[in-house]
Amino acid sequence: LAPLPPRAPPRVLALANQKGGVGKTTTAINLGTALAAIGETVLIVDLDPQGNASTGLGIDRRSRRVSTYDVLTGDAVMREAVLETAVPRLHIAPSTMDLSGLELELADRRDRAYRLRDAVRGLNDEGSFRTRNEITYSYVLIDCPPSLNLITVNAMAAANAILVPLQCEFFALEGLSQLLKTVEQVRTTLNPGLSIHGIVLTMFDARNNLSTQVVEDVRQFMGDKVYETVIPRNVRVSEAPSYGKPVLLYDLKCVGSQAYLRLASEIIQRERALRAAAA
Ligand code: ADP
Ligand code: MG
Repeated sequence: LAPLPPRAPPRVLALANQKGGVGKTTTAINLGTALAAIGETVLIVDLDPQGNASTGLGIDRRSRRVSTYDVLTGDAVMREAVLETAVPRLHIAPSTMDLSGLELELADRRDRAYRLRDAVRGLNDEGSFRTRNEITYSYVLIDCPPSLNLITVNAMAAANAILVPLQCEFFALEGLSQLLKTVEQVRTTLNPGLSIHGIVLTMFDARNNLSTQVVEDVRQFMGDKVYETVIPRNVRVSEAPSYGKPVLLYDLKCVGSQAYLRLASEIIQRERALRAAAA
């Protein structure tokens, strides 16, 4: 067999916010699905011990034989953990509760902050493919836990950029400066190439003046880092995970699905602009 042509490494985006319930997992699942729907090849890496991204994509506990815990401890390589989903071109490396013990497990390893980077970095390298049928990923989306712990630091050290979901609620900006500070620390110590890709406002409720005010405040504070696309609060979005489906499979026409498709094209446009600027 002729050697395969070299493949570009994937773009690695970490979905991070130390607040729980702001839409990280929902965005990982549905942005991943939307990117796959427009032709990208996507791997979601579930780094939350709760495993909601895995469950929301219909991966039951029994099939999580190899998990991101095994990858981070070095007992498996990333492609051994990868499972297909019902969405073509969308794969997931699932998580289990074991992940909650990772911090202690890695405590005296010098490379503890780089475990994920090293697992993700070679993902598209010739040597990491076990069969010729395995796909090259154009995007890796990392679903972080609601904490600025070692797991999230691993995600930031592995990522090209951070995507921050912010819920349109009164305390939306609370905690953001702490998050940005952590990103800055990771940039100066572990990952000089790290940037903020963008901020995505979630659970927007047009009938609520507060939601509108929050959008204005966040745009004022963060400028063009905030994506044009705002994700509306939509009951279809919150129902879909209980069927083990992304909302785009559950109800493609609903406003939530349409918003995630717009977010995906906005992200691809930003990526093109970044690449053009670098060339
Ligand atoms: P995180 O991963 O940041 O903890 P989740 O993505 O799990 O947050 O979202 C928290 C809750 O809000 C979940 O029950 C989810 O279904 C719901 N949710 C998220 N986005 C929306 C939305 N756009 N409309 C309605 N419910 C949403
Ligand atoms: Mg989550």
